[in-house]
Formats: sequence, C-alpha cells, structure tokens
Amino acid sequence: MNLAIWLERAAAVSGGAPALCHGDAVVADYRGFADRAAPFAAALRERGVTPGDRVAVFAKNHPDYLVVMFGVWIAGAAAVPINAKLHAKEAAWIIGDAGAVLGVVTAELGAALAAEVQVPLVEIGGAEFIEMTSGAGMGSVPREPDDLCWLFYTSGTTGRPKGVRITHGMLMATSLAYPVDVDPVSAADAALYAAPMSHGAGIYAPIHVRVGAAHIVPRSGGFDADEVLALARGHGQVSMFMAPTMVRRLTDAAKAAGRRGEGIKTVVYGGGPMYLADIVEAVDWFGPRFVQIYGQGECPMAITALSRDEVADRSHPRWRERLGSVGRAQSVVEVAIGGPDGVLGPGETGEIMVKGLPVMPGYWRNEAATAKTLRDGWLMTGDVGRLDADGYLTLADRSKDVIISGGTNIYPREVEEVLMQHTGVHEVSVVGRPSAEWGEDVVAFVVASGAVDQRALDAFCLENIARFKRPKSYMFVDALPKNNYGKVLKTELRKRLAEG
Ligand code: AMP
Repeated sequence: MNLAIWLERAAAVSGGAPALCHGDAVVADYRGFADRAAPFAAALRERGVTPGDRVAVFAKNHPDYLVVMFGVWIAGAAAVPINAKLHAKEAAWIIGDAGAVLGVVTAELGAALAAEVQVPLVEIGGAEFIEMTSGAGMGSVPREPDDLCWLFYTSGTTGRPKGVRITHGMLMATSLAYPVDVDPVSAADAALYAAPMSHGAGIYAPIHVRVGAAHIVPRSGGFDADEVLALARGHGQVSMFMAPTMVRRLTDAAKAAGRRGEGIKTVVYGGGPMYLADIVEAVDWFGPRFVQIYGQGECPMAITALSRDEVADRSHPRWRERLGSVGRAQSVVEVAIGGPDGVLGPGETGEIMVKGLPVMPGYWRNEAATAKTLRDGWLMTGDVGRLDADGYLTLADRSKDVIISGGTNIYPREVEEVLMQHTGVHEVSVVGRPSAEWGEDVVAFVVASGAVDQRALDAFCLENIARFKRPKSYMFVDALPKNNYGKVLKTELRKRLAEG
C-alpha cells in the first residue's frame, strides 16, 4: 500500500477541512492539497520520473513541502529530504549518492545548489512549480511495504552521512504507533513544523494527514520561539516536535513574555538528551504538555516513548529516574541490551538493540555499514543504555562518547546532568582527553550563565557524584559546537583538546 493513499482518503472525506497553513493563513484545504499533489505527481512522471526513482527536496520548511512529498509518493518515487542548513556542496553530495533524478528547492538554496549539480531543479513557488501543481492529476501508484518511500540521510556527527532506506511499511508503522504510544490525534489538531521537515517533524506529517488535521508552517521557515507561541495561541490544539535545546528556548521565551503556552496541546521532544533540570522547569511552567520519544533515522521516531503522564508525574517514588529515562518500547518494537556474550538483564549497561516493523532494511548502497548495523535481525543503535525491571530505558551515551579512565567507564551524560543543576551553568558537554596516566581524563566544556569558576564546579561535583567521575579540567567557552540539528559535536571538542 502506498502511504499517499492517506491523502487521497482525507481529501475524499474531509475535503473542506483546513490542511496547509502558512503562519496564520490557510493556504489549502484537503481537497486543494490533494489537487496540487496529484498533478505534481503526473508532472514528475512526464519529466521521466519512474516508480522507485529518487527526488531530492532541498528546501526550507514550507507548506508546499508536503505537496512535494505526497506528489513524489503518488508518483511511486521516493523522496530524499535534505536538511536546509547543509552547505550546497553537502547537498550535492547527497543528491549524487542517492542518484536523485530531480531536485525540488526553495529559492536561495536552489541558487547555490544549481552550481553544484547536473539534475534539473524545480523551485517551490516558481512558474514551473505552479504549472506542475495545476492541471490533470493521477492516482497513486501501487507500492509494496518494502518499497522505498523516504531516503533519510543521517545527520552524522562524524564522516559522510549515510542514506537510511525508509520504506512505506516502516513509515506506516511509525505513524500508527504515534496515536497509541505518543499522542492521540484527531481532525481538530494542528501539526506545527517548528523543526526541520526533512527530519523528525516531517516523519510525523503522514499520521496528521491520515486524520485530516491541519499543518502549520511558520512564516519564518525556522524555529522562532515567540512565533511558535503566537501561532499556537492563534490556532489552538497544536502539536509539534522539538529537539531538547528548542524546549529550553521555548521555556525561556514564554517566561520572558509571561505566556503559559496557550494553544499548545503537545510538544514531543527527543533527538538528543534532555537534561532533567530543563524538562522539570518546562513542565512546571507549561503543565503536562510534553511527551518524550527516542528514535534514530534507522528506526525513525519509534524506539521508545515516555508518556505525557510520566513526564509530568512527581509522585512516583522513582519519578526522577523515570523522567531521566527515554520511556518504554513503543508498540511496534522490541528493545534489548546487548553485551559481549548476548542479551543482558535488567540494570546492566550495554548497546541498545531494536527489532520491529519500523527498523530499516539497510543503508542505501552501503552493504558494509548495513552488515555492521543490522546483526541477527537486530538494529545495533550505537547508543549505550540499560533497561530497568519495568522496561524503562535509560540512555548513557553513544558508545564512542564513553570515557574510560583508569579502566573504569564514565558516562559523560551523568556528569553533565550534575553540572546542569548548578545555577551558573547554562550548557555543558563532557568529553575524554587522552592521558598517559589514566587512559583518558574527564574534561567539561562549560557555557556559563553567571559567575562560576572551576573551584565552585569541582565542589559541586564532590557533593553529587563519585570523585573519579568529576572533571579534571574545565574549559569555559561562549558556545558549544553543534551540528545542523543542534546536537553537540563531541568529536569537535575532542579535536580541540588534542590540538591543545
Ligand atoms: P538521528 O538519526 O540523527 O535522528 O539521531 C539519532 C540519535 O539521537 C540516537 O541514536 C540517540 O543517540 C539520539 N537521541 C534520539 N532521541 C533521544 C532522546 N530522547 N534522548 C537522548 N538521545 C536521543
């Protein structure tokens, strides 16, 4: 079954319902949405795009992003959404690796990309695009569950990104787990795209199409906390995906404006570690509007979830532990912890492994990487963590980030959690530095939010964690290096240390 059928059905039964909004303005109802996606599909076919071909999308968030995605799927092709923050040369590399036959772009990105690629580029909003999205449409091309739907390039904090093959079946599994494990959805809801549509936020589009909810794309095309707060107030019943750093900025902006998040139904957060102090503050301010998910491109958005009630609960004897976890396995997957000799028991720390419907069949044209990552039917996530007896999964770190000092494993996240509780610390990242004596030393990079020094932080650590875990040195910096999704680049920090 082709996922695009969900749009055809929504148009048939809720044709007049608002579908695509740009800021405050409704730009298309479901009939209008479908009546632009179907001609776009037909126009792609006329330009030689055949089922199974890849069509790249190098665009900022825009309501027509969804017209393009569904158009590509109706045509039986696969979309290759590319993070709009990438350099044109990086986008060109992805287009080449994917073997994309055509690209859809927004204006400025297209201008830079044109110099780098040979494939034809169609600009959203341009004359050709307008022509392609009007006229006669076509019905969706039949697809099998294993057919490629979305070629997702991992953000990659090291090396070249890899293309994850997301199939129609996987995306349906992720979508159908959403109302069961993350948040119930209805036609009265609105999905707001505060984060890149090329990533997790876009993965959540199909389920909202399925129920005939509205889709709101902020005018800024990016994340502006004040704009998000205003849009939510205007529309009401808004849900959105946010990276943890965005939640932090949302809380700061709402507090400054004296707003309590009116109109926000749900903020789904994930994609990186959320510090306990930040989520407690967010729930205190906004109330029970937060759900956490843990996923990765290889199992998009669908490994675990920590429900709204669990995120807001302060009465359970172990609520802190639970809030520091990423929740329990979603309905469509099995989660286990792997050690050197097989599956480990509760409380034991090892590599997180996942099996189930939303797990990728492999990377795009990269058998060596696939063989390393899919083993005995399990997806090896590269994340380290432990399960408790109730099935709550707590992430320690990426395996490569674990610090081994004097033969003992130190999980940077644990040290970061402690330092984040200090009022003088705004952001922190902990990494290992090669040491002749210990193998590695613990070093903390700190963005201070007030007057604080090494002595104060050391005293604070002594009060809160084992001595051997506390940083040997502190580096005070103005900002932490981050990738385009806001994830801290620990490799960059380690490089700085190596360079002295
Ligand atoms: P990506 O494939 O770019 O989406 O990155 C996925 C990685 O982000 C995972 O393998 C984890 O290391 C991290 N991640 C995702 N969700 C969470 C979460 N809720 N808490 C901590 N880390 C997360």
